[in-house]
Amino acid sequence: MESLDALTSLVAGGGVVVLSGAGLSTESGIPDYRGPSGVARRHTPMTFQAFTRDPLARRRYWARSHLGWRLIAGAAPNAGHRAVAGLQRAGLVDAVITQNVDGLHGVAGSTSVIELHGRLDEVTCLDCGNLTSREELDRRLREANPDFVARVAGVNPDGDVDLPDEQVAAFRTVDCGICGTGMLKPDVVFFGETVPPQRVARCFAVVEQARSLLVLGSSLTVMSGRRFVIRAAKRGIPVAIVNQGSTRGDGHATVCVDAPLGVVLPQLAARVGADAPAGV
Ligand SMILES: [Zn+2]
Repeated sequence: MESLDALTSLVAGGGVVVLSGAGLSTESGIPDYRGPSGVARRHTPMTFQAFTRDPLARRRYWARSHLGWRLIAGAAPNAGHRAVAGLQRAGLVDAVITQNVDGLHGVAGSTSVIELHGRLDEVTCLDCGNLTSREELDRRLREANPDFVARVAGVNPDGDVDLPDEQVAAFRTVDCGICGTGMLKPDVVFFGETVPPQRVARCFAVVEQARSLLVLGSSLTVMSGRRFVIRAAKRGIPVAIVNQGSTRGDGHATVCVDAPLGVVLPQLAARVGADAPAGV
């Protein structure tokens, strides 16, 4: 494949910064979220405004998220994540910026990962600001809703369907365990919320130092990720995109590979001598 040759020579030059999106995690069984809200694309994404202002919307979010969390917590990195970590160990990738909130780059062994939209395995209190683990919250939610998962899991195996109103009404949310009253929110950037400016600045700095920018599994629909592609292109830094389907960044790219990531990335890693060790 001609485009794979071009991709190989770009990555072999080193100094690569990876920008990854939902498409990299679909092969780990994580639904292709349209954004960082933790709500899959066939639903209207939860906005920060609805979450904070509408108690019913918030209850619905946590009820579905309580079901969906088991899927995220049980997910393992796939061949694509392992190939990225392999490229990094081979010294070819300097940093990873990810739009994903699943933490799988880290599990696969990647370092210098900037989680642009936060992490689903951390929970923040909107009042006292304390961060706690989702594992801890999951334990508290199970205590507050002892039979909820068993009752609805049969019909909603991954939480990715609308729960009937009566199920939502029966779900009990919990408040911050530290200050006692604060509203809890997963530490991810919702629609209608902005990424912390310092985090964006770090990403721009990393991109500007890159020899090339490699986009993996993102359609670049939202400006949150696309702005880094635009910045790289403006600075004359080559952009390569591996994604299934076209993206909104294709016009800025020097190489586009339209193929499954779990196939292309191990091939790429093998071609540049950066095979991932088995069993990671
Ligand atoms: Zn609190």
